[in-house]
Amino acid sequence: MKRIMTRSLAIWFVTIAFLAGIILLGVRVILYHNQWVQQPFNGHIASAGGLGKAGKIYDRDGNVLAYSENGERYYSDDQTTREALLHVVGDESLNISTAVQSMYNNSLSGYNFLIGVAVPDSLRPNGDLKLTVDSDSCRAAYTALGGHKGACVVYNYKTGEVLCDVSTPTYDPANRPVITEENEKEYDGVYLDNVVSSTFTPGSVFKIVTAAAAIENIPDIDSRTFTCNGELEGFGETIRCADGEVHGEQSFSQAFANSCNCAFAEIANLIGEEKLKETAEKMGFNSDRFRMSDIPIAKSHYDATGQGSNALAWSGIGQHEDLANPLHMAMICSAVANGGTATSPYLLQDTGNLLEKLGIHTNKAGNVEMMSPSTASRLQTLMRGAAENYAYGYGVSIAGLNFCAKTGTAEVGEDKAPTSWFVGYTEDEAHPYAFAAVVVEGGYGVEAATPVIDAAISALAY
Ligand SMILES: [Zn+2]
Repeated sequence: MKRIMTRSLAIWFVTIAFLAGIILLGVRVILYHNQWVQQPFNGHIASAGGLGKAGKIYDRDGNVLAYSENGERYYSDDQTTREALLHVVGDESLNISTAVQSMYNNSLSGYNFLIGVAVPDSLRPNGDLKLTVDSDSCRAAYTALGGHKGACVVYNYKTGEVLCDVSTPTYDPANRPVITEENEKEYDGVYLDNVVSSTFTPGSVFKIVTAAAAIENIPDIDSRTFTCNGELEGFGETIRCADGEVHGEQSFSQAFANSCNCAFAEIANLIGEEKLKETAEKMGFNSDRFRMSDIPIAKSHYDATGQGSNALAWSGIGQHEDLANPLHMAMICSAVANGGTATSPYLLQDTGNLLEKLGIHTNKAGNVEMMSPSTASRLQTLMRGAAENYAYGYGVSIAGLNFCAKTGTAEVGEDKAPTSWFVGYTEDEAHPYAFAAVVVEGGYGVEAATPVIDAAISALAY
């Protein structure tokens, strides 16, 4: 009897171990099938970085951005298009991890979890992907960046479609450079799409956040006046207004339109460190939850708590340790345009194909409430006022459309030219675009970054 008990226990043990093994295998297949299918021993799809038989990539107008023939991967016939769209499309090296060819390698290979790739080519899903980007707009932005390091993003704040996503430096995927010690400076950060993966010191574009916090926390902000003598000593290290300007006595809205550092240093201290951080976090700072389709958007940083009034003053004018991602800034502008709710950006068009739906996600992530409708409405007025300043004072035009905006000129070090920013949105039913451009060491934002947005949006509007 005892022997039978022992044997039946042993059989039970073997059975349970076997079932556990099957379950573990099943779980591993579900979790890791994407990596396994791209292994080199899968020779039928692993040529040309797994792209030898990959589907076509189209822009929104049906222009072919990439395709495969005889096991080789080819790109647009036009070199400027190839360079402008490198960070969106990617290349066979797959070094640009956020590019479509890296992120959606399996979908492009026609690989599907249910049917695998072990079917004849004629029966495989074609794996074509259609993007939301407009290659004319990307080319125009790339040309306008004029060889500077930077980023330009434009997206439809009603639908979330990303129309322009350009990052520099770039290279020609049809003629990949060999990066050596001699030329590595030229290609510094070349594998990052600055639109989604980088953060920069925001400078005065952060005043949008400080202004939102002021509106929400200082009840009489509109009846206050701020006197600017060109510099402010009260908080320790001297804070100066740009270009030696002296703005004199101003209202809150005038201080925003003038981008007065002295007034905003004072305003940041009136708000207080906790409240300013709270507003920044509601607008998405210190969070990595945003995505463009499945592509992660880098975390913007804001924190001046426990560091005293000087740090708080500098942080309120977008300096200190502040860092902002360009697409995140465009999302904040979309929230202002939409009455407080930011539209989630996406890059892959949903074609409605069932097989594609099983394998890929256009991932139109939920929209994000960033501020109250009344705060959004007040920011609209402030940003419209600033835009009028740029239009009348500096001749800035954004494809001849009405727009609301803020420029920024971020100091990044004694021996470097400042980083320039331009963020905002167009007020136009047919062309509802939120935008952000960054030009590293570009000089003043109003001069360096506004032409990039004008070029990108002119290509969309005409
Ligand atoms: Zn000033």
